Amino acid sequence: MDLSFTPEEEAFRQEVRSWLDANLPEEWRHGGVGGYREDEEESIQREWQRRLYEGGWLTLAWPKEQGGRGATPVMQSIYSEEMAKAGGPPIIGRLGVSLLAPLLSVFGTDWQKEQYLAKILSGELVFAQGFSEPDAGSDLAGLKSRAVKKDGGWVLNGQKTWSSGAHYSDRSFLLARTDPAAPAHKGIGMFLIDLKQPGVEVRPIIQMTGSGEFCEIFLTDAFVEDRDVVGSPTEGWKMAMATFGFERGGLANAYRFQRAIDELANLTRRQGAGADDTVRQRVAQAAIEAHVFRATGLRNLTRAQQGQVPGPEASLVKLFWSEMDKKLQETAIAVQGMYGALDPESPWSVEEGRWQYGWMWSQAETIYAGSSEIQRNIIAERVLGLPRGR
Ligand SMILES: Cc1cc2nc3c(=O)[nH]c(=O)nc-3n(C[C@H](O)[C@H](O)[C@H](O)COP(=O)(O)OP(=O)(O)OC[C@H]3O[C@@H](n4cnc5c(N)ncnc54)[C@H](O)[C@@H]3O)c2cc1C
Repeated sequence: MDLSFTPEEEAFRQEVRSWLDANLPEEWRHGGVGGYREDEEESIQREWQRRLYEGGWLTLAWPKEQGGRGATPVMQSIYSEEMAKAGGPPIIGRLGVSLLAPLLSVFGTDWQKEQYLAKILSGELVFAQGFSEPDAGSDLAGLKSRAVKKDGGWVLNGQKTWSSGAHYSDRSFLLARTDPAAPAHKGIGMFLIDLKQPGVEVRPIIQMTGSGEFCEIFLTDAFVEDRDVVGSPTEGWKMAMATFGFERGGLANAYRFQRAIDELANLTRRQGAGADDTVRQRVAQAAIEAHVFRATGLRNLTRAQQGQVPGPEASLVKLFWSEMDKKLQETAIAVQGMYGALDPESPWSVEEGRWQYGWMWSQAETIYAGSSEIQRNIIAERVLGLPRGR
């Protein structure tokens, strides 16, 4: 593992910093993990995405031939680190940008690339992910929404759930069963469906944080044109698996956690909790884990730099950071003593309840993008070669 940066990489870091100084207003900056709020203002997220797109940052890793900058893994990691330090807010179309755009750039038709790529990246068109159903989450291949062929397109019926941001999204990349007679994984299609049509109803689900970021989507004879099918109508599973490959939290998360540890240590000092042996141990343990995670990220970065593609060991990364964050957030609550039990909205809550909000949000992290149990199954079977469980 070589941790030194070349003069070109240092110059790139300066470029990122200068751009952030000029384009990220102070009032948009948020704290580390504890301060992350999914429901931050939509208008800020929209404008932030537009600025990042125009600055060329959303296609940093894309090949130059596709309008990207062809950044090396080290440059991407420098960008993530500087972004985490600056506290950049989320972007409005994060699922479209991080999952669908890379998918379309590989598997999309020329028409789809022409029609959607620039609009997804600029935030002009926001896409939600429509995979999960009430009885199909971990077992996604059990999905039941149906797509039936009609002249010029497909008619869709069924229900989706947990679709993040669907209430403000224009479209969804959505999975539906096209051939019920085929084996579960084979008869599925991926559709780029217009959510604003009469056959679609989107209902936000209120979570324990009090906000409603994810939604149910009800499909009643909704229509999708043939040209909005990604891949062939029975290749939806392959498309879905490809998007999961993009859904990894690596070094970008490591820098967020580094920042969260600094904030946790500051909180501990401010609360005067550092003299308590148990609290000290827990804060120190959180710092050790964040350090281990960063070191693992750097090792993976070295591998990526050598052209090695991450395989099932990506599950180790997802499992580690999501479980680590839950512990970190619990420690932040413990540091507050009795104040930790207050409603975030209470006038007496510490730091406007942002750690309570962070704790509630962290509960979701071991569920989305593959739950901890599913990650452990993958590690057991594909990394350790243990027999498949029942
Ligand atoms: C914050 C958040 C955002 C999300 N956003 C989206 C989105 O935008 N679009 C979308 O389509 N979906 C989204 N999801 C849904 C997410 O993908 C599912 O919640 C996830 O796949 C788990 O599925 P499930 O909720 O149906 O739980 P289930 O699959 O029913 O699992 C229930 C429990 O059983 C365990 N379990 C299941 N199968 C096994 C097994 N084989 N071995 C051992 N244990 C098992 C699980 O680990 C879990 O603890 C989101 C979820 C969250 C929390």
